[in-house]
Amino acid sequence: MLDIASLRDILNQPQKIIITTHHKPDGDAMGSSLGLYNYLIQQGHHARVIAPTDYPEFLWWLPGNEEVTIYTENTELSAQLIADADIIFCLDFNNLSRINDMGELVRQSSAKKVMIDHHLEPEDFDDYRHWNINACATAQLVYTFITEQLQRPDLVDADVATCLYTGIMTDSASFRLPNTTSAVHRIVADLIDAGAVNYRIHELVYGNQSENRLRFLGFCLSNKLEILREYNTALISVTKEELKRFESNTGDTEGIVNYALSITGIRLAAFIVERTDLVKLSLRSTGEFPANEICKKYFKGGGHRNAAGGQSVDSLEMTIQRFKQILPEYKTLLIQ
Ligand code: 5GP
Ligand code: MN
Repeated sequence: MLDIASLRDILNQPQKIIITTHHKPDGDAMGSSLGLYNYLIQQGHHARVIAPTDYPEFLWWLPGNEEVTIYTENTELSAQLIADADIIFCLDFNNLSRINDMGELVRQSSAKKVMIDHHLEPEDFDDYRHWNINACATAQLVYTFITEQLQRPDLVDADVATCLYTGIMTDSASFRLPNTTSAVHRIVADLIDAGAVNYRIHELVYGNQSENRLRFLGFCLSNKLEILREYNTALISVTKEELKRFESNTGDTEGIVNYALSITGIRLAAFIVERTDLVKLSLRSTGEFPANEICKKYFKGGGHRNAAGGQSVDSLEMTIQRFKQILPEYKTLLIQ
């Protein structure tokens, strides 16, 4: 294990640094990674972000995005860079299985590994950890890592601030979730002072949808939404064929589950989608209901109490059946 003084010493010299994040990166994954990237390059480090897979187009405007390497599209180069790195930052995930094939490459690399994350139950693969499950976003932790642990608030420039603002905004569902504390709002205020143009970021992320995506959302809400009143649960399921029909791209399904959760009285919402090789579940809940417990126990997944995900190798129909069969076990909690 490294202590912060040793890590600070190491970072005082230019290093070869890889920053990586979970597969199918979301706004917090890319926002926190590029926020840290923009900070490190100011300090003269040879830094590079490697994303395990591609990510949605509404994140491509982030400062530094043109320098991101996608592992699945540049496997050999990525493997070489990971093997040669001095330091690997692992952001917004805490289990190497979350970065697919890259996991073993990271594990085998002699680089020092730094985990910055806010998910439960971290795997023990890191040399230094800045981890707090109460943080609303990994971007919040990157901010405190730079300002408090590395003591460089002066280096939070407009690019760093823009990326971190995006991470906090997306992971807190636009500052709505219970973990959007006053401390988070103070950080967000600092980020705006440092040059993050808040209204522009909202527009770039949320006001930038393709026509197909919006029509697909309409289809899901009018044709695919199922309400299980007995369990205060709402469910939307989508087949491969439907994804194809609406020319759905990476990220187009993100957030649809929240519409199901927004219905009065609904405590648990599920979005179940048939992907190429597996069925993916996204669960959202309100209050104390443990969506992550269902994902962990039944769908090889996990996440936060109110936002969790998992997967199934059964057919879509079977997965939906299984999800419905689980609900009686949670009935008391669901109807409270
Ligand atoms: P989403 O529904 O947006 O895919 O994921 C919601 C949350 O659940 C995220 O915080 C994500 O980290 C977590 N999550 C999603 N899928 C998985 C999974 O397969 N395994 C684990 N451990 N967590 C997941
Ligand atoms: Mn996150």
